[in-house]
Amino acid sequence: MKLKALFPSTALEGRVDLHCHSTASDGILNPTDLVSRAKSQGVTLLALTDHDTVAGVGEARAAGAAHGVSILAGIEFSACWGRRTIHIVGLGVDTASAALCDAVALRDRLRQDRSVRIADCLEKRGFAGALAGARALAGDGVLGRPHFARWLVEAGHVEDTARAFKRFLGAGKAADVKVAWPSLADTVAAIRAAGGRAVLAHPLKYGLTRTRLRLLLDDFHSAGGDAVELLCGRQNPVQTRELRQLLDTVNAASGATALRCSLGSDFHQPGQPWRELGCVHLPADVVPVWA
Ligand code: MN
Ligand code: MN
Ligand code: MN
Repeated sequence: MKLKALFPSTALEGRVDLHCHSTASDGILNPTDLVSRAKSQGVTLLALTDHDTVAGVGEARAAGAAHGVSILAGIEFSACWGRRTIHIVGLGVDTASAALCDAVALRDRLRQDRSVRIADCLEKRGFAGALAGARALAGDGVLGRPHFARWLVEAGHVEDTARAFKRFLGAGKAADVKVAWPSLADTVAAIRAAGGRAVLAHPLKYGLTRTRLRLLLDDFHSAGGDAVELLCGRQNPVQTRELRQLLDTVNAASGATALRCSLGSDFHQPGQPWRELGCVHLPADVVPVWA
């Protein structure tokens, strides 16, 4: 399946952004406002990739039709790679497929269970009402850790969300609850069974050494992954160059279908210029995910 077949050729005339979030997960803008903002940033092809849900895609498509922005149905799945949580973006997924619905339902259960456990941890620290508070902030959207962070700020327990993670929600802190997300391989398989392309999200953000990152890329490739986000928001150009070299090495060693390159802003909210919609461009000499 070619992604290109999913949208008109005009979709690639402007900026491309294949990773962003709406209120269907932990983004601040609803899908309509998100698409409208993408339009004003010169984006002509946008994939909405909310965490573990495609609930915003219908509204995004309607807004895309009104604004002349091509919308690709996407999702950002949490997955386990060893003991580590990684993110895998699915692009061009069939939102009605059983494979996609099953993968979403499974994460929904895991997220609900995690939310209860996070709230328990926070209650033990004396922060009553965390679950109701975070749920209220999530509204109809998928409940995630950022909602707990925002609640901690709104309830006056911390000054900002960065501190909420640093003190309570982040790795090794009191409310850092482990989740047994489906494996990398199962996640790639689900995306492909749903007719989509599997893209390894923000490989530079897992804090991996070069050796471990190479292992991750190899495993992702072996599992049938299609592409890697060479750019996710604005990155250090030196690190981007290193990632590209690593990708070349993996592709040269494998012989099989090469991993392609994807890109996105990982936009969550206005006021963060380093991850504004449409803020990154793929170099002309890489093979894009839509090729
Ligand atoms: Mn997020
Ligand atoms: Mn992510
Ligand atoms: Mn994201």
